[in-house]
Amino acid sequence: MEQLPIFFQLKGKTVAVAGGGAPAARRAELALRAGARVSVFATHLGDDFRAIVDDPHFVHETRAPSAADMAGLALAFAATGDRASDEAMAALAREARVPINVADTPELCDFIMPAIVDRDPLVIAISTGGASPIFARMIRARLESTIPTAYGRLVALVGSYRERLGQRLSDLSQRRRFWERALEGRVADRFLAGREDEARAELERALDAADDTELAQGEVYLVGAGPGDPDLLTFRALRLMQRADVVLYDRLLPPGILNLVRREAEHIYVGKEPDRHAVPQEEISAKLVRLAKEGKRVLRLKGGDPFMFGRGGEEIEALAAAGISVQVVPGVTSAAGCSAYAGIPLTHRDHAQACVFVTGHARSGGGLSLGWEALVQPHQTVVIFMGLGQLESLMHQFVAHGGNPALPAAIVENGTRPNQRVVTGTVETIAGAAASEGIVGPALVILGTVVALRERLVPRGGPVSDEPGIFSNAHIPATMTPV
Ligand code: SAH
Repeated sequence: MEQLPIFFQLKGKTVAVAGGGAPAARRAELALRAGARVSVFATHLGDDFRAIVDDPHFVHETRAPSAADMAGLALAFAATGDRASDEAMAALAREARVPINVADTPELCDFIMPAIVDRDPLVIAISTGGASPIFARMIRARLESTIPTAYGRLVALVGSYRERLGQRLSDLSQRRRFWERALEGRVADRFLAGREDEARAELERALDAADDTELAQGEVYLVGAGPGDPDLLTFRALRLMQRADVVLYDRLLPPGILNLVRREAEHIYVGKEPDRHAVPQEEISAKLVRLAKEGKRVLRLKGGDPFMFGRGGEEIEALAAAGISVQVVPGVTSAAGCSAYAGIPLTHRDHAQACVFVTGHARSGGGLSLGWEALVQPHQTVVIFMGLGQLESLMHQFVAHGGNPALPAAIVENGTRPNQRVVTGTVETIAGAAASEGIVGPALVILGTVVALRERLVPRGGPVSDEPGIFSNAHIPATMTPV
Protein backbone atom coordinates (compact mmCIF):
# COMPACT_ATOMS: atom_id res chain seq x y z
CA MET A 1 0.00 0.00 0.00
CA GLU A 2 1.42 3.39 -0.99
CA GLN A 3 -0.55 5.31 1.66
CA LEU A 4 -2.78 4.55 4.62
CA PRO A 5 -6.43 5.27 3.81
CA ILE A 6 -8.10 7.13 6.69
CA PHE A 7 -11.06 9.46 7.14
CA PHE A 8 -10.01 12.66 8.86
CA GLN A 9 -12.28 14.43 11.37
CA LEU A 10 -12.39 18.13 10.44
CA LYS A 11 -15.42 19.35 12.38
CA GLY A 12 -14.58 22.60 14.19
CA LYS A 13 -11.01 22.54 12.90
CA THR A 14 -9.25 25.00 10.64
CA VAL A 15 -7.88 24.35 7.19
CA ALA A 16 -5.85 26.67 4.96
CA VAL A 17 -5.96 26.65 1.18
CA ALA A 18 -3.54 28.60 -1.02
CA GLY A 19 -4.95 29.42 -4.45
CA GLY A 20 -7.91 31.08 -6.13
CA GLY A 21 -8.66 28.72 -9.03
CA ALA A 22 -10.83 25.65 -9.52
CA PRO A 23 -8.57 23.11 -7.77
CA ALA A 24 -8.36 25.38 -4.70
CA ALA A 25 -12.13 25.91 -4.74
CA ARG A 26 -12.73 22.18 -4.92
CA ARG A 27 -10.53 21.55 -1.90
CA ALA A 28 -12.05 24.43 0.08
CA GLU A 29 -15.54 23.18 -0.68
CA LEU A 30 -14.77 19.63 0.43
CA ALA A 31 -13.23 20.87 3.67
CA LEU A 32 -16.31 23.00 4.35
CA ARG A 33 -18.56 20.03 3.66
CA ALA A 34 -16.57 18.07 6.23
CA GLY A 35 -17.28 20.80 8.80
CA ALA A 36 -13.99 22.72 8.78
CA ARG A 37 -13.37 26.45 8.97
CA VAL A 38 -11.53 27.34 5.78
CA SER A 39 -9.13 30.22 5.13
CA VAL A 40 -8.30 30.73 1.49
CA PHE A 41 -5.18 32.71 0.59
CA ALA A 42 -5.45 34.26 -2.89
CA THR A 43 -5.30 37.74 -4.33
CA HIS A 44 -8.32 36.93 -6.41
CA LEU A 45 -11.02 34.25 -6.16
CA GLY A 46 -12.27 32.68 -9.39
CA ASP A 47 -15.89 31.86 -10.26
CA ASP A 48 -15.62 28.39 -8.80
CA PHE A 49 -15.72 29.93 -5.33
CA ARG A 50 -19.10 31.48 -5.92
CA ALA A 51 -21.01 28.72 -4.17
CA ILE A 52 -18.98 28.92 -0.99
CA VAL A 53 -17.88 32.53 -0.42
CA ASP A 54 -20.93 33.25 1.71
CA ASP A 55 -20.44 30.25 3.94
CA PRO A 56 -20.02 31.52 7.52
CA HIS A 57 -16.98 29.25 7.92
CA PHE A 58 -15.25 30.65 4.85
CA VAL A 59 -12.59 33.38 5.15
CA HIS A 60 -10.84 35.01 2.22
CA GLU A 61 -7.33 36.43 2.79
CA THR A 62 -6.00 38.47 -0.12
CA ARG A 63 -2.39 38.13 1.01
CA ALA A 64 0.12 35.31 0.82
CA PRO A 65 0.12 32.92 3.78
CA SER A 66 2.75 33.38 6.48
CA ALA A 67 4.25 31.15 9.15
CA ALA A 68 1.82 32.61 11.69
CA ASP A 69 -1.13 31.36 9.60
CA MET A 70 -0.03 27.77 10.09
CA ALA A 71 -0.64 27.83 13.81
CA GLY A 72 -3.34 25.40 14.87
CA LEU A 73 -4.19 24.18 11.36
CA ALA A 74 -5.48 20.65 10.93
CA LEU A 75 -4.57 20.44 7.25
CA ALA A 76 -3.16 22.66 4.52
CA PHE A 77 -3.68 22.67 0.78
CA ALA A 78 -1.59 24.30 -1.91
CA ALA A 79 -3.34 24.65 -5.25
CA THR A 80 -2.17 27.97 -6.68
CA GLY A 81 -1.17 26.56 -10.06
CA ASP A 82 2.23 28.19 -9.56
CA ARG A 83 5.04 25.86 -8.59
CA ALA A 84 6.99 28.42 -6.51
CA SER A 85 3.90 29.53 -4.54
CA ASP A 86 2.86 25.92 -3.96
CA GLU A 87 6.34 25.06 -2.73
CA ALA A 88 6.33 28.07 -0.41
CA MET A 89 3.02 26.96 1.11
CA ALA A 90 4.32 23.40 1.45
CA ALA A 91 7.45 24.63 3.21
CA LEU A 92 5.40 26.71 5.68
CA ALA A 93 3.15 23.77 6.45
CA ARG A 94 6.00 21.35 6.83
CA GLU A 95 7.82 23.75 9.16
CA ALA A 96 4.69 23.90 11.35
CA ARG A 97 4.13 20.11 11.06
CA VAL A 98 0.79 20.59 9.37
CA PRO A 99 -0.03 17.83 6.86
CA ILE A 100 0.04 19.31 3.37
CA ASN A 101 -1.50 18.41 0.03
CA VAL A 102 -0.11 20.02 -3.10
CA ALA A 103 -2.34 19.70 -6.15
CA ASP A 104 -0.83 17.55 -8.92
CA THR A 105 2.51 17.30 -7.10
CA PRO A 106 2.54 13.95 -5.30
CA GLU A 107 6.17 14.31 -4.22
CA LEU A 108 5.26 17.32 -2.06
CA CYS A 109 2.18 15.71 -0.51
CA ASP A 110 1.78 14.31 3.00
CA PHE A 111 -1.63 13.08 1.95
CA ILE A 112 -3.44 12.83 -1.36
CA MET A 113 -7.02 13.58 -2.24
CA PRO A 114 -8.87 10.42 -3.26
CA ALA A 115 -11.58 10.25 -5.87
CA ILE A 116 -14.82 10.30 -3.91
CA VAL A 117 -18.23 8.73 -4.27
CA ASP A 118 -20.40 10.70 -1.90
CA ARG A 119 -23.62 9.14 -0.64
CA ASP A 120 -23.42 10.94 2.66
CA PRO A 121 -23.09 9.44 5.25
CA LEU A 122 -21.72 6.69 3.01
CA VAL A 123 -18.47 7.88 1.47
CA ILE A 124 -16.21 5.81 -0.76
CA ALA A 125 -12.67 7.08 -1.33
CA ILE A 126 -10.55 5.66 -4.14
CA SER A 127 -6.80 5.92 -4.56
CA THR A 128 -4.33 4.45 -7.00
CA GLY A 129 -1.45 5.57 -4.79
CA GLY A 130 -0.79 8.34 -7.27
CA ALA A 131 -0.15 5.85 -10.09
CA SER A 132 -3.13 6.85 -12.19
CA PRO A 133 -5.73 9.43 -11.13
CA ILE A 134 -7.56 8.68 -14.39
CA PHE A 135 -7.99 5.07 -13.33
CA ALA A 136 -9.34 6.18 -9.97
CA ARG A 137 -11.84 8.40 -11.76
CA MET A 138 -12.89 5.51 -14.01
CA ILE A 139 -13.58 3.36 -11.00
CA ARG A 140 -15.47 6.18 -9.38
CA ALA A 141 -17.65 6.54 -12.46
CA ARG A 142 -18.38 2.85 -12.31
CA LEU A 143 -19.31 3.00 -8.63
CA GLU A 144 -21.38 6.12 -9.16
CA SER A 145 -23.47 4.23 -11.66
CA THR A 146 -23.90 1.08 -9.57
CA ILE A 147 -24.49 2.46 -6.07
CA PRO A 148 -28.00 3.86 -5.85
CA THR A 149 -28.23 7.38 -4.46
CA ALA A 150 -30.71 6.02 -1.90
CA TYR A 151 -27.84 4.12 -0.25
CA GLY A 152 -26.83 7.22 1.63
CA ARG A 153 -30.28 7.52 3.20
CA LEU A 154 -30.36 3.80 3.88
CA VAL A 155 -27.07 4.04 5.76
CA ALA A 156 -28.49 6.96 7.72
CA LEU A 157 -31.57 4.88 8.58
CA VAL A 158 -29.36 2.07 9.87
CA GLY A 159 -27.39 4.60 11.90
CA SER A 160 -30.54 5.92 13.53
CA TYR A 161 -31.43 2.42 14.80
CA ARG A 162 -27.99 1.54 16.08
CA GLU A 163 -28.60 2.40 19.67
CA ARG A 164 -31.98 0.66 19.92
CA LEU A 165 -30.59 -2.52 18.43
CA GLY A 166 -27.62 -2.31 20.76
CA GLN A 167 -30.02 -2.37 23.71
CA ARG A 168 -31.91 -5.30 22.28
CA LEU A 169 -28.98 -7.48 21.18
CA SER A 170 -25.85 -7.20 23.27
CA ASP A 171 -23.73 -9.47 21.11
CA LEU A 172 -21.85 -7.83 18.26
CA SER A 173 -22.05 -10.76 15.85
CA GLN A 174 -25.78 -11.10 16.48
CA ARG A 175 -26.23 -7.43 15.67
CA ARG A 176 -24.23 -7.85 12.50
CA ARG A 177 -26.36 -10.80 11.49
CA PHE A 178 -29.52 -8.83 12.17
CA TRP A 179 -28.41 -6.06 9.85
CA GLU A 180 -27.30 -8.42 7.13
CA ARG A 181 -30.69 -10.03 7.09
CA ALA A 182 -32.46 -6.70 7.13
CA LEU A 183 -30.28 -5.16 4.46
CA GLU A 184 -30.32 -8.14 2.16
CA GLY A 185 -34.02 -8.67 2.59
CA ARG A 186 -37.25 -6.74 2.51
CA VAL A 187 -36.09 -3.65 4.39
CA ALA A 188 -33.56 -2.71 1.74
CA ASP A 189 -35.80 -3.83 -1.12
CA ARG A 190 -38.57 -1.52 0.02
CA PHE A 191 -36.22 1.30 0.79
CA LEU A 192 -34.51 1.21 -2.59
CA ALA A 193 -37.88 0.99 -4.30
CA GLY A 194 -38.66 4.40 -2.78
CA ARG A 195 -41.09 3.01 -0.17
CA GLU A 196 -39.20 4.35 2.82
CA ASP A 197 -42.17 4.29 5.22
CA GLU A 198 -42.78 0.62 4.52
CA ALA A 199 -39.09 -0.09 4.96
CA ARG A 200 -39.14 1.65 8.33
CA ALA A 201 -42.20 -0.33 9.42
CA GLU A 202 -40.54 -3.55 8.29
CA LEU A 203 -37.44 -2.67 10.26
CA GLU A 204 -39.53 -1.97 13.37
CA ARG A 205 -41.18 -5.39 13.01
CA ALA A 206 -37.83 -7.12 12.57
CA LEU A 207 -36.47 -5.32 15.58
CA ASP A 208 -39.38 -6.42 17.76
CA ALA A 209 -38.95 -9.99 16.55
CA ALA A 210 -35.15 -10.07 16.86
CA ASP A 211 -34.46 -13.30 18.60
CA ASP A 212 -31.07 -13.80 20.06
CA THR A 213 -31.25 -17.58 20.19
CA GLU A 214 -31.94 -17.81 16.49
CA LEU A 215 -29.32 -15.20 15.68
CA ALA A 216 -26.84 -17.07 17.85
CA GLN A 217 -26.93 -20.11 15.56
CA GLY A 218 -23.83 -20.44 13.43
CA GLU A 219 -23.66 -21.64 9.88
CA VAL A 220 -21.15 -23.14 7.47
CA TYR A 221 -20.59 -22.00 3.89
CA LEU A 222 -18.87 -24.60 1.78
CA VAL A 223 -17.71 -22.47 -1.10
CA GLY A 224 -16.00 -23.34 -4.37
CA ALA A 225 -13.42 -20.67 -5.12
CA GLY A 226 -12.68 -21.75 -8.69
CA PRO A 227 -9.30 -22.68 -10.13
CA GLY A 228 -7.45 -19.43 -9.59
CA ASP A 229 -8.59 -16.43 -11.59
CA PRO A 230 -10.62 -14.43 -9.04
CA ASP A 231 -12.91 -13.31 -11.87
CA LEU A 232 -14.27 -16.85 -11.92
CA LEU A 233 -15.78 -16.60 -8.44
CA THR A 234 -19.56 -16.60 -8.33
CA PHE A 235 -21.46 -13.63 -6.91
CA ARG A 236 -22.75 -15.85 -4.17
CA ALA A 237 -19.27 -17.02 -3.25
CA LEU A 238 -18.11 -13.44 -2.97
CA ARG A 239 -21.12 -12.45 -0.87
CA LEU A 240 -20.53 -15.26 1.62
CA MET A 241 -16.79 -14.57 1.66
CA GLN A 242 -17.64 -11.04 2.70
CA ARG A 243 -19.83 -12.30 5.50
CA ALA A 244 -17.68 -14.92 7.21
CA ASP A 245 -16.37 -14.67 10.77
CA VAL A 246 -13.77 -17.33 10.18
CA VAL A 247 -12.31 -18.96 7.09
CA LEU A 248 -10.72 -22.42 6.80
CA TYR A 249 -8.54 -22.89 3.75
CA ASP A 250 -5.82 -25.17 2.51
CA ARG A 251 -2.82 -25.17 0.24
CA LEU A 252 -4.89 -25.70 -2.89
CA LEU A 253 -6.69 -22.42 -2.47
CA PRO A 254 -5.75 -20.15 -5.36
CA PRO A 255 -3.54 -17.28 -4.25
CA GLY A 256 -5.28 -13.92 -4.26
CA ILE A 257 -8.67 -15.36 -3.35
CA LEU A 258 -8.10 -14.96 0.38
CA ASN A 259 -7.71 -11.22 -0.08
CA LEU A 260 -11.38 -11.12 -1.00
CA VAL A 261 -12.52 -12.62 2.30
CA ARG A 262 -13.84 -10.15 4.89
CA ARG A 263 -10.79 -8.49 6.33
CA GLU A 264 -11.75 -9.07 9.94
CA ALA A 265 -12.36 -12.80 9.49
CA GLU A 266 -10.09 -15.12 11.39
CA HIS A 267 -7.93 -17.22 9.04
CA ILE A 268 -7.30 -20.87 9.83
CA TYR A 269 -4.93 -22.84 7.63
CA VAL A 270 -5.78 -26.54 7.49
CA GLY A 271 -3.68 -27.67 4.57
CA LYS A 272 -0.52 -29.65 4.51
CA GLU A 273 2.91 -28.14 4.18
CA PRO A 274 5.08 -29.69 1.44
CA ASP A 275 6.64 -32.42 3.59
CA ARG A 276 4.32 -32.44 6.53
CA HIS A 277 1.17 -34.34 7.23
CA ALA A 278 -2.13 -32.83 6.28
CA VAL A 279 -4.64 -32.00 8.98
CA PRO A 280 -6.80 -35.15 8.97
CA GLN A 281 -10.22 -34.74 7.37
CA GLU A 282 -12.01 -35.73 10.60
CA GLU A 283 -10.21 -32.97 12.41
CA ILE A 284 -11.25 -30.39 9.83
CA SER A 285 -14.85 -31.56 10.00
CA ALA A 286 -14.80 -31.43 13.80
CA LYS A 287 -13.38 -27.93 13.69
CA LEU A 288 -16.15 -26.77 11.34
CA VAL A 289 -18.75 -28.18 13.73
CA ARG A 290 -17.19 -26.60 16.77
CA LEU A 291 -16.86 -23.13 15.23
CA ALA A 292 -20.44 -23.18 13.96
CA LYS A 293 -21.67 -24.21 17.41
CA GLU A 294 -19.91 -21.16 18.81
CA GLY A 295 -22.27 -19.13 16.63
CA LYS A 296 -19.74 -18.27 13.96
CA ARG A 297 -20.30 -18.00 10.26
CA VAL A 298 -17.70 -20.40 9.03
CA LEU A 299 -16.40 -20.24 5.50
CA ARG A 300 -14.82 -23.39 4.15
CA LEU A 301 -13.11 -22.33 0.94
CA LYS A 302 -12.18 -24.97 -1.61
CA GLY A 303 -10.29 -24.71 -4.84
CA GLY A 304 -12.44 -25.43 -7.90
CA ASP A 305 -15.78 -26.98 -7.05
CA PRO A 306 -16.31 -28.35 -3.53
CA PHE A 307 -17.94 -31.56 -4.75
CA MET A 308 -15.36 -32.33 -7.42
CA PHE A 309 -12.65 -34.37 -5.68
CA GLY A 310 -12.92 -31.82 -2.91
CA ARG A 311 -14.12 -33.99 -0.03
CA GLY A 312 -16.99 -31.54 0.32
CA GLY A 313 -19.38 -34.44 0.72
CA GLU A 314 -17.54 -35.73 3.77
CA GLU A 315 -17.60 -32.32 5.40
CA ILE A 316 -21.30 -31.72 4.97
CA GLU A 317 -22.07 -35.21 6.26
CA ALA A 318 -20.37 -34.34 9.54
CA LEU A 319 -22.17 -31.01 9.71
CA ALA A 320 -25.55 -32.52 8.95
CA ALA A 321 -25.00 -35.10 11.68
CA ALA A 322 -24.35 -32.25 14.12
CA GLY A 323 -27.49 -30.40 13.00
CA ILE A 324 -25.63 -27.44 11.54
CA SER A 325 -26.97 -25.64 8.55
CA VAL A 326 -24.72 -25.59 5.49
CA GLN A 327 -24.81 -23.68 2.26
CA VAL A 328 -22.88 -25.23 -0.60
CA VAL A 329 -21.80 -22.91 -3.38
CA PRO A 330 -20.56 -24.51 -6.57
CA GLY A 331 -17.36 -23.24 -8.10
CA VAL A 332 -15.79 -23.46 -11.52
CA THR A 333 -13.94 -26.75 -11.37
CA SER A 334 -10.34 -26.70 -12.56
CA ALA A 335 -11.43 -29.07 -15.33
CA ALA A 336 -13.65 -26.37 -16.81
CA GLY A 337 -11.17 -23.58 -16.06
CA CYS A 338 -8.20 -25.37 -17.61
CA SER A 339 -10.25 -26.45 -20.59
CA ALA A 340 -11.36 -22.90 -21.34
CA TYR A 341 -8.08 -21.13 -20.61
CA ALA A 342 -5.97 -23.68 -22.46
CA GLY A 343 -8.24 -23.81 -25.49
CA ILE A 344 -9.05 -27.52 -25.13
CA PRO A 345 -12.79 -28.21 -25.30
CA LEU A 346 -13.63 -31.28 -23.24
CA THR A 347 -16.29 -32.47 -25.63
CA HIS A 348 -16.62 -31.96 -29.35
CA ARG A 349 -19.01 -33.51 -31.85
CA ASP A 350 -16.16 -34.84 -34.00
CA HIS A 351 -13.90 -35.93 -31.16
CA ALA A 352 -15.48 -36.74 -27.84
CA GLN A 353 -19.04 -37.60 -26.93
CA ALA A 354 -18.15 -38.26 -23.32
CA CYS A 355 -15.83 -36.85 -20.72
CA VAL A 356 -14.61 -38.77 -17.71
CA PHE A 357 -13.20 -37.17 -14.58
CA VAL A 358 -10.88 -39.42 -12.57
CA THR A 359 -8.47 -39.03 -9.72
CA GLY A 360 -4.92 -40.25 -10.10
CA HIS A 361 -4.43 -40.21 -6.38
CA ALA A 362 -4.95 -43.40 -4.42
CA ARG A 363 -6.89 -43.33 -1.16
CA SER A 364 -4.39 -43.71 1.60
CA GLY A 365 -3.93 -47.39 2.34
CA GLY A 366 -5.66 -48.64 -0.81
CA GLY A 367 -4.36 -48.88 -4.35
CA LEU A 368 -5.74 -46.97 -7.26
CA SER A 369 -8.69 -48.83 -8.72
CA LEU A 370 -9.67 -47.13 -11.92
CA GLY A 371 -11.97 -48.83 -14.42
CA TRP A 372 -9.29 -48.92 -17.10
CA GLU A 373 -11.46 -50.65 -19.69
CA ALA A 374 -13.82 -47.68 -19.62
CA LEU A 375 -11.00 -45.12 -19.63
CA VAL A 376 -9.26 -46.40 -22.75
CA GLN A 377 -12.41 -46.20 -24.92
CA PRO A 378 -12.21 -44.01 -28.06
CA HIS A 379 -14.29 -40.83 -28.67
CA GLN A 380 -14.03 -39.54 -25.16
CA THR A 381 -11.91 -37.21 -23.08
CA VAL A 382 -10.26 -38.30 -19.84
CA VAL A 383 -9.43 -35.63 -17.28
CA ILE A 384 -7.11 -36.73 -14.50
CA PHE A 385 -7.01 -34.78 -11.25
CA MET A 386 -4.04 -35.19 -8.91
CA GLY A 387 -2.31 -37.29 -11.53
CA LEU A 388 1.08 -35.64 -11.63
CA GLY A 389 2.71 -37.77 -8.92
CA GLN A 390 2.12 -41.07 -10.68
CA LEU A 391 1.88 -39.81 -14.23
CA GLU A 392 4.36 -42.23 -15.74
CA SER A 393 2.73 -45.27 -14.16
CA LEU A 394 -0.76 -44.04 -15.07
CA MET A 395 0.21 -43.65 -18.72
CA HIS A 396 1.81 -47.10 -18.70
CA GLN A 397 -1.33 -48.67 -17.40
CA PHE A 398 -3.42 -46.75 -19.92
CA VAL A 399 -1.44 -48.39 -22.73
CA ALA A 400 -1.30 -51.78 -20.97
CA HIS A 401 -5.12 -51.80 -20.90
CA GLY A 402 -5.33 -51.23 -24.64
CA GLY A 403 -5.18 -47.43 -24.75
CA ASN A 404 -3.61 -45.71 -27.77
CA PRO A 405 -0.06 -44.57 -26.95
CA ALA A 406 -0.28 -41.91 -29.69
CA LEU A 407 -3.41 -40.34 -28.20
CA PRO A 408 -2.88 -36.58 -27.74
CA ALA A 409 -2.32 -35.59 -24.13
CA ALA A 410 -1.94 -32.26 -22.34
CA ILE A 411 -0.95 -31.03 -18.93
CA VAL A 412 -2.30 -27.72 -17.72
CA GLU A 413 -0.41 -26.38 -14.74
CA ASN A 414 -1.74 -23.48 -12.66
CA GLY A 415 -4.73 -23.26 -14.96
CA THR A 416 -6.39 -19.81 -15.23
CA ARG A 417 -3.61 -18.23 -13.16
CA PRO A 418 -1.06 -15.73 -14.46
CA ASN A 419 1.56 -18.48 -14.44
CA GLN A 420 -0.53 -21.02 -16.38
CA ARG A 421 1.54 -23.42 -18.47
CA VAL A 422 0.36 -25.96 -21.00
CA VAL A 423 2.48 -28.88 -22.12
CA THR A 424 1.24 -31.13 -24.90
CA GLY A 425 2.36 -34.49 -26.23
CA THR A 426 0.94 -37.99 -26.41
CA VAL A 427 0.13 -40.65 -23.84
CA GLU A 428 3.58 -42.04 -24.54
CA THR A 429 5.54 -38.78 -24.23
CA ILE A 430 3.59 -36.65 -21.76
CA ALA A 431 5.19 -37.91 -18.54
CA GLY A 432 8.67 -37.23 -19.89
CA ALA A 433 7.60 -33.82 -21.20
CA ALA A 434 6.15 -32.90 -17.80
CA ALA A 435 9.38 -33.87 -16.10
CA SER A 436 11.64 -32.01 -18.52
CA GLU A 437 9.43 -28.89 -18.33
CA GLY A 438 9.61 -29.03 -14.56
CA ILE A 439 5.84 -29.18 -14.06
CA VAL A 440 5.14 -29.26 -10.32
CA GLY A 441 1.40 -28.56 -10.18
CA PRO A 442 -1.33 -28.09 -9.40
CA ALA A 443 -1.90 -29.64 -12.77
CA LEU A 444 -4.59 -31.46 -14.70
CA VAL A 445 -3.91 -34.13 -17.28
CA ILE A 446 -6.21 -34.20 -20.29
CA LEU A 447 -6.22 -37.20 -22.65
CA GLY A 448 -8.11 -37.28 -25.94
CA THR A 449 -8.09 -36.07 -29.51
CA VAL A 450 -9.67 -32.79 -28.31
CA VAL A 451 -6.17 -31.83 -27.18
CA ALA A 452 -5.16 -31.45 -30.83
CA LEU A 453 -7.83 -28.75 -31.23
CA ARG A 454 -5.71 -26.43 -29.15
CA GLU A 455 -3.43 -26.00 -32.14
CA ARG A 456 -6.31 -24.46 -34.00
CA LEU A 457 -7.89 -22.53 -31.14
CA VAL A 458 -4.86 -20.95 -29.57
CA PRO A 459 -2.13 -19.06 -31.41
CA ARG A 460 1.41 -20.17 -30.72
CA GLY A 461 2.69 -18.57 -27.57
CA GLY A 462 -0.24 -19.73 -25.50
CA PRO A 463 -3.41 -18.12 -24.29
CA VAL A 464 -1.92 -16.01 -21.55
CA SER A 465 -1.73 -12.33 -22.39
CA ASP A 466 1.49 -10.46 -21.78
CA GLU A 467 -0.37 -7.51 -20.39
CA PRO A 468 0.05 -7.34 -16.63
CA GLY A 469 -3.08 -8.28 -14.77
CA ILE A 470 -4.79 -9.68 -17.86
CA PHE A 471 -4.61 -13.40 -18.05
CA SER A 472 -8.02 -14.28 -19.31
CA ASN A 473 -8.61 -16.25 -22.44
CA ALA A 474 -10.57 -13.33 -23.79
CA HIS A 475 -8.71 -13.25 -27.06
CA ILE A 476 -9.22 -16.89 -27.89
CA PRO A 477 -12.52 -16.47 -29.71
CA ALA A 478 -11.06 -13.71 -31.86
CA THR A 479 -8.26 -15.92 -33.13
CA MET A 480 -10.34 -19.07 -33.43
CA THR A 481 -10.55 -20.52 -36.87
CA PRO A 482 -13.98 -21.98 -37.59
CA VAL A 483 -13.88 -25.70 -36.88
N1 SAH B 1 -12.18 -29.37 -6.27
C1 SAH B 1 -11.11 -29.14 -7.20
C2 SAH B 1 -10.20 -30.32 -7.34
C3 SAH B 1 -9.52 -30.71 -6.08
S1 SAH B 1 -8.36 -32.00 -6.29
C4 SAH B 1 -11.70 -28.70 -8.56
O1 SAH B 1 -12.91 -28.76 -8.76
O2 SAH B 1 -10.92 -28.30 -9.39
C5 SAH B 1 -6.89 -31.11 -6.58
C6 SAH B 1 -6.44 -31.26 -8.00
O3 SAH B 1 -7.17 -30.39 -8.84
C7 SAH B 1 -5.00 -30.88 -8.24
O4 SAH B 1 -4.15 -31.94 -7.91
C8 SAH B 1 -5.02 -30.64 -9.73
O5 SAH B 1 -5.04 -31.84 -10.44
C9 SAH B 1 -6.37 -30.00 -9.92
N2 SAH B 1 -6.30 -28.53 -9.93
C10 SAH B 1 -6.83 -27.68 -9.04
N3 SAH B 1 -6.60 -26.41 -9.41
C11 SAH B 1 -5.93 -26.45 -10.56
C12 SAH B 1 -5.42 -25.47 -11.46
N4 SAH B 1 -5.56 -24.17 -11.23
N5 SAH B 1 -4.78 -25.87 -12.57
C13 SAH B 1 -4.62 -27.19 -12.83
N6 SAH B 1 -5.09 -28.15 -12.03
C14 SAH B 1 -5.73 -27.80 -10.90
